[in-house]
Amino acid sequence: MPHVVEQSRIEHLAEAFEQATPSEILLEAVKQIKNITFACSFGVEDMMIVDLIGQLGLTLPIFYLDTNLLFGETYALIDIVKEKYPHLQFVQVLPKLTLDEQAQQHGDTLWSSRPDQCCALRKVRPLEDHLNGYEGWITGIRRDQSPARANAQTFERDDRFGLTKVNPLVRFTEDEVWQYVRDNNVPYNLLHDHGYPSIGCAPCTKAVAPGEDPRSGRWAGFAKTECGLHQDTNE
Ligand code: SF4
Repeated sequence: MPHVVEQSRIEHLAEAFEQATPSEILLEAVKQIKNITFACSFGVEDMMIVDLIGQLGLTLPIFYLDTNLLFGETYALIDIVKEKYPHLQFVQVLPKLTLDEQAQQHGDTLWSSRPDQCCALRKVRPLEDHLNGYEGWITGIRRDQSPARANAQTFERDDRFGLTKVNPLVRFTEDEVWQYVRDNNVPYNLLHDHGYPSIGCAPCTKAVAPGEDPRSGRWAGFAKTECGLHQDTNE
């Protein structure tokens, strides 16, 4: 799939915006990439980006993958966010299979037997289908979240989807994100206050003890740290 923004241009943008603020990166992203969307998981990083998009008056669509298995607290936050930012466009992206259909075809709790297949059905394929037609996407990933994210750039080529990927918070620490959220009264998932630094689907996310790897509560018991949304198939 051809990349709309040339690789050399992406590298130039990554270098030029390495020290830029998230707002500057977002403004440049919508300037450079006309057909761009924001992938929102409603984690604290993504809440910061939602607020920035609102403050900057940007009109890009904001989509979220609803696996039908999110926490009640996450669904409550989605309602709050839609009410607080009525001018923003939130797009719900659902899997092709309902939970009943998945249970009939693959067993009752696929997430506990084959989480990779469950993520493929409920997250990765819906994401691939949804991104088809876009030229770029924005994410809330930070470099210090995991070794797999340590080399993320502000602007980078996403070979997997054939898009330009924009990561406005790559340089931010968790503390800096929380500072922004508190200073600006941004709503956030209440599970963050109860030992859940990283929140995914309810069956696959556990609370972690203070000082533990923030992502160790995701797919605990499996050698799995990413759902497949941010992995480059060329790596
Ligand atoms: S995080 Fe768990 S429940 Fe959600 S799609 Fe992946 S395996 Fe399934």
